[in-house]
Amino acid sequence: MRAAVFRGPHRPLTIEQVEVGHLGDDEVLVATRASGVCHSDLHFIDGHMSAGSAVMVMGHEGAGVVQAVGGRVTAVGPGDHVVACLSGFCGRCPQCLGGHPNLCRKPRVSRPRGAEARLSQDGEPLVQFANLSTFAEQMLVHENSVVAVDPAVPFAVAALLGCGVLTGMGAALRTARVRAGQTVAVFGCGGVGLAIVQGARLAGAGRIIAVDLVDAKLELARRLGATDGVNGADGGAVEQVRGLTAGHGVDHAFEAVGIPTLMRQAIEVLGVRGTATICGVWSPGSTLELPLDAIHPECRIQTSRMGSNRFKIDIPVYLGLYLQGRLDLDELVSARISLDEVNDAFTTMRTGELARTVIEFPASGEHGSAETGEVD
Ligand SMILES: [Zn+2]
Ligand SMILES: [Zn+2]
Repeated sequence: MRAAVFRGPHRPLTIEQVEVGHLGDDEVLVATRASGVCHSDLHFIDGHMSAGSAVMVMGHEGAGVVQAVGGRVTAVGPGDHVVACLSGFCGRCPQCLGGHPNLCRKPRVSRPRGAEARLSQDGEPLVQFANLSTFAEQMLVHENSVVAVDPAVPFAVAALLGCGVLTGMGAALRTARVRAGQTVAVFGCGGVGLAIVQGARLAGAGRIIAVDLVDAKLELARRLGATDGVNGADGGAVEQVRGLTAGHGVDHAFEAVGIPTLMRQAIEVLGVRGTATICGVWSPGSTLELPLDAIHPECRIQTSRMGSNRFKIDIPVYLGLYLQGRLDLDELVSARISLDEVNDAFTTMRTGELARTVIEFPASGEHGSAETGEVD
């Protein structure tokens, strides 16, 4: 199959032929039909996160059609439409059993050390990014890495649920538990931030203030439910947000990018008893400097890992809201490209212009036979 291969930072991904391994008993082979391009992929390509000398197939936000399943798989079957999620889990540890599988201590979704690699090239193993590798025509993954979804949902939309939308919706609805009438500020209106805006809208937030540096993103945020937009490019974002709340500050502020300056602003706009929820992925080694005078009484600062998700429940719920017309995901797909154009998506992402670029794979990529479970 064809896949986008990472061979080190500061180099474009290359489209190469890659072999898919044999289907394990707990595994699912999926014909990829769409993959979102997320900032976490860019972190590796730009060298902000290191993968050592690993050669990897990138991508972690995918959707497709199940081609074959291993003998012990019960959750999905051939022909099912599925969304892949990087919050793979074991189902047995205290976090999983306590209802927090996104914090699983030992996700059993990769193969054990020494086992045949799921992906290889000329006999050399390749690293499967996030145990998914969605920038490829096929995904060979553990059954605890996928969930079946309604086939009425377009693949490009379904793919977004695997990372960005799950993270943003979950941050608002599950981590922060925004309540009706509360005031909300969202710092960063990319894929995650726009999903936070919609989660806050669905929760009935009274005022939703979107903050970004790009006017086009603020306009998009307004279409998706923000009541106000603040462009922080001229500075003074904190004062502008506080001004919109008559100086009181907000009940909830969300940071959706992973930049310490924005985290600090999210804390500084809080009112009394406000909660700042940090959703962005920060670069290793980052620190947050905070003047303590900026903190109002009984404020809380928390992080959200992938929207505190239980993805096997949450993804179908969120897609149900989409099918009812209550969650707008079509607007989040800002560009559709082919696998060959994957590097263009990163170039666009660096300019900060778009919500989400989605790679689409033609249905003809579904080689292998679902009936016999045979794999090319
Ligand atoms: Zn992601
Ligand atoms: Zn677990």
